[in-house]
Amino acid sequence: MTQDNRKPTTTDAGIPVASDEHSLSVGPDGPLVLHDHYLIEQMANFNRERIPERQPHAKGSGAFGHFEVTDDVSQYTKAAVFQPGTKTDVLIRFSTVAGERGSPDTWRDPRGFSIKFYTSEGNYDMVGNNTPVFFIRDPMKFQHFIRSQKRRADSNLRDHDMQWDFWTLSPESAHQVTWLMGDRGIPKTWRHMNGYSSHTYMWANAQGEKFWVKYHFKTDQGIECLTQEEADRLAGEDSDYHTRDLYEAIQRGDYPGWTLYMQIMPFADADTYRINPFDLTKVWPHDDYPLIKVGKLQLNRNPTDNHAEIEQAAFEPNNLVPGIGISPDKMLIGRVFSYADAHRARLGVNYKQIPVNAPKAPVHSYSKDGAMRINKVSDPVYAPNSKGGPAADGERYPTDSTWEANGQMVRAPYALRKDDNDYGQANDLINKVMDDAARDRLVNNVVGHVSGGVEEPVLSRVFEYWKNIDAEIGRRIEEGVKAGRG
Ligand code: NDP
Repeated sequence: MTQDNRKPTTTDAGIPVASDEHSLSVGPDGPLVLHDHYLIEQMANFNRERIPERQPHAKGSGAFGHFEVTDDVSQYTKAAVFQPGTKTDVLIRFSTVAGERGSPDTWRDPRGFSIKFYTSEGNYDMVGNNTPVFFIRDPMKFQHFIRSQKRRADSNLRDHDMQWDFWTLSPESAHQVTWLMGDRGIPKTWRHMNGYSSHTYMWANAQGEKFWVKYHFKTDQGIECLTQEEADRLAGEDSDYHTRDLYEAIQRGDYPGWTLYMQIMPFADADTYRINPFDLTKVWPHDDYPLIKVGKLQLNRNPTDNHAEIEQAAFEPNNLVPGIGISPDKMLIGRVFSYADAHRARLGVNYKQIPVNAPKAPVHSYSKDGAMRINKVSDPVYAPNSKGGPAADGERYPTDSTWEANGQMVRAPYALRKDDNDYGQANDLINKVMDDAARDRLVNNVVGHVSGGVEEPVLSRVFEYWKNIDAEIGRRIEEGVKAGRG
């Protein structure tokens, strides 16, 4: 220890250094020398501190905690994480979608709600949002959708005209756009919003019986939202408002919680249900499939190194454990590929060895080598082998979370069912859920957004789009926009 009992600074190789303040120079006023390897290490490390930001969901933060099962759902799933009384460590990352890493937390946008459960059977990730639906239903459109929300090629500015151009040419967006332009489009804090799987997943029980499920994490803090005016003010005063709120709440011991409820559909219902239960632009009305309580989620530990534990956290919907599977939701099938691919591109092929991504369950995989490998590999390096290497156990872990599929390969939308249309549930949201004051705020929010740069021919399509959702709301939006333009 040095005089004041602090540890001596070292290089990254552990070599003690002579000064934190002075470069090696030829005399006090002379030039610096190239062999000052500590100075070089400091500069080189600094130049490489940033890694590519996520595309999208770049701005966000998170915390650790646990999930505890309070109610018995073992009749629906054999997943160890959801067995009665089980307590599992979790990591959650909240985020906006379109903004870059330094962008304001309070922009109007859906919020990411990603959870990693460190279960006894490996990591289980749910890459959810604070909304139960999404803008599109085919992954072919995802890249285009995100580009329309980000920046123009020429000015590098975000552009409401291009956002509404995409939305009005994609009527399946109507439900999510209505949700986004309503009160919940800007949560007060991450603590005051719900999390939804949005996608339909499959659960399978110990007897091999299968169910279709949707996850609803309801906030124990109550839903609270910001008005557009409050959010605009906060974007200027404190662009990290949500990040700060979560960190400070946990720091003062005010641990946020959510209660997990499921909607559970018997497997066979999916064939005859009046809407396509795998269409990501639709909810399952609660009257059809009521919420079933599962357990409690609590966040109680802040990261100590945001880069190592949050920026490098990698959530991927393909991380599914026995008893949980995907569904025929085309968006989910696309995401099952694209998330892991994004992590390989952003963090490198061995990203699952970064401590925050490493499972607490033992790993016996045949993956080998690659950049930045940390875990050592041992022989045999192939399977099958007669040398005592790991062997898959299909009896204990059968491929059971599947469904039957056949048909001609086509490029086509989902086949329409009786109550499938793009505008019906958006209309329900306006007329069944919102009150007069919420409808007024919806109209004001849309008028304000559209007035910020939407021009013909997109503008006329915006009026048409809203009239398709609700004739009166559409009329009021047209009137409001036209009044503002004189
Ligand atoms: P319900 O009346 O049973 O449920 C309405 C839901 O709307 C509640 O879950 C409520 O969440 C949520 N909600 C309340 N205010 C808003 C708002 N301003 N923006 C978005 N959501 C809000 O009706 P249905 O199940 O028949 O659904 C009717 C409509 O409600 C749907 O078309 C959909 O737009 C919306 N909705 C439905 C959900 C579902 O899974 N069925 C989930 C969320 C929204 P809370 O109880 O937490 O306040």
